[in-house]
Amino acid sequence: MHLQFLGAATTVTGSQFLLTTERARILIDCGMFQGSPNESIRNRIPLAYDPRQLDAILLTHAHLDHCGLIPHVVKEGFGGPIWATNGTIELATLVLLDSGKLQEEFAKRGMRWERRNPDRAAAEDRRDLASYEAAIALADKGEADSEHPSGDATAVPGGPAAPAAPVGFAALPGSAASGEHVPTSVEPNAAGSAPSGGAADRRRGQEPRVDPAHFGRRRYDAALMIPQEGGGASDPVVATSTFSSFAALPVEAAPPDPSALPAAPPFTIAPNPEVALRAQPAKLDVDLDEPLYDEADARASLARFRGTGYDQEFEVAPGIHATFVDAGHILGSAIIRLRVVDREGGPERRIVFSGDLGRTDTPILRDPTVVTDADYVLIESTYGGREHEPEAEAIRILAETVHLVADHDGVLLVPSFAIGRTQEVVWELDRLISAGKIPLLPLYLDSPMASKASAIYRAHPDYYDQETRDLLAGSESPLDYPNQIVTNDVRQSQAIEHAKRPYMIVASNGMLTGGRVVGHLRNLIDDPTAVILFVGYQGQGTLGSHLQAGATTVKIDGQVRQVKCQIRSISGFSAHADESELLAWLSNFATGKRPGDDGFPHRVFLVHGDPDAQAALLPKVRALGFDADVPGWHEVVELE
Ligand SMILES: [Zn+2]
Repeated sequence: MHLQFLGAATTVTGSQFLLTTERARILIDCGMFQGSPNESIRNRIPLAYDPRQLDAILLTHAHLDHCGLIPHVVKEGFGGPIWATNGTIELATLVLLDSGKLQEEFAKRGMRWERRNPDRAAAEDRRDLASYEAAIALADKGEADSEHPSGDATAVPGGPAAPAAPVGFAALPGSAASGEHVPTSVEPNAAGSAPSGGAADRRRGQEPRVDPAHFGRRRYDAALMIPQEGGGASDPVVATSTFSSFAALPVEAAPPDPSALPAAPPFTIAPNPEVALRAQPAKLDVDLDEPLYDEADARASLARFRGTGYDQEFEVAPGIHATFVDAGHILGSAIIRLRVVDREGGPERRIVFSGDLGRTDTPILRDPTVVTDADYVLIESTYGGREHEPEAEAIRILAETVHLVADHDGVLLVPSFAIGRTQEVVWELDRLISAGKIPLLPLYLDSPMASKASAIYRAHPDYYDQETRDLLAGSESPLDYPNQIVTNDVRQSQAIEHAKRPYMIVASNGMLTGGRVVGHLRNLIDDPTAVILFVGYQGQGTLGSHLQAGATTVKIDGQVRQVKCQIRSISGFSAHADESELLAWLSNFATGKRPGDDGFPHRVFLVHGDPDAQAALLPKVRALGFDADVPGWHEVVELE
């Protein structure tokens, strides 16, 4: 059997793993790449499989980077079941409909801009195409490096395999530190600290980044609501971006040479669309401005969902049985355990997909389930090399920040992921008010999706831990802030700036790559009485990571704006396990066993992490006695 890493490979988004046996073919997660344009362009790569030949999709949880490509795959012909917990199905319904709608809106906005700026549109189309070709080249690199049994009759003829290229975090160019810092105490605005990238990079002994203007800048700007004046080197945010490994690829990707195409993976029976695409002339006929899918596509894909509970084993496809157990990350989130028999009468192999792992002893949800036996483990690594501050410290910083804003008649802006983080932040604020530790400021919950997600959380106490259920029995309503104002439309969102200060806003999205939070940022960026408080992970290349790294200027609405507001970070509210928690969860597989014993994993794959996090975590995983690896994007691994 084979496992192919189609996403969340040396990055934190786009989770997608293809498991192929002699009898079946299933996907675990089907997520969207998000963040910088270098990530999102990967959504446009033709599927590496024929979706009509997939037996099923298993979904760990409802975050967009795990489920966001489902409507696309269904639109392309997938007709099987999508298995998820009932909580995940409810949240994924929200997420996918919202995603379809957003994509339609962005496409329309892009088209209007294109009509007004035809020359620049043409130039940027060329850049988009180069970026797209670079993405194809990177995907190709993973395949070239993977093991392909020779002489496989099902392989698509494509000439001799390309020479194997080293794949993995160490081999990827530009895989520098993300620049994110996660302070454990309140810090003043980092006045005078250098923005990431550019000169800062040279000081760290690295090559300066390729000008990200070459990588689909238009979409990036659209996401930031920045009109298209200026740009390039004069754009401090964009020009000094610490882009991910992907950005450092050569812009002028050579036209594909059909004679050098690698052999397609052996499981490919239908013509591989990616191989077919690369065999075309250099001018690709791909319209990057078309939405990947629209709201109607998203709605249609919902019909494919099938609900399951935790701890109930069921047959997914011939020879593949799955059990979902609680991952404690967001409502409905699951670790997926598979029992797989490759061919009839063959040995059974157990594969565990961690999904996103939650934390122990956090509010609302249960702790991640302890799993003890597997032959192969895929574990997320978002916070490799990092520890969250203790909960008490996180709460102290939150309280101090609220006081600061209250004392100066300021505004507290919390960019938040709509699902999970928002509910936990509101929970903690509510608890602080109940304890008399912070003043009661008005809270604007400016995220329709977060409001709807909160309603789903309220409707599902069955997913709560015992502590939360006890609280609810005592008639507390921890998901409701006492002075909360929920906004319903954009006008209400815009009106918030006229509200009497001090007040707080929780708005999505969490990495400032789009959403209503960007509108608030525009109002508050040069306001010294405002505080932007990050409570979640900021992916490489996002505006959030630049601000965390101490960027002193940003470009908004075509104007360079000084960052005068305070930037603070709390990682203690993260929905992800930190390094100690990742290692603790993983060590359960080794407890009482030695390598070679039954249930001791043959191999551990680190996924869902930026390169620096994975580089930090890998030796520690190996120190637990595991044979561990960081798979490259599109790499195929044989599971024996
Ligand atoms: Zn997640």
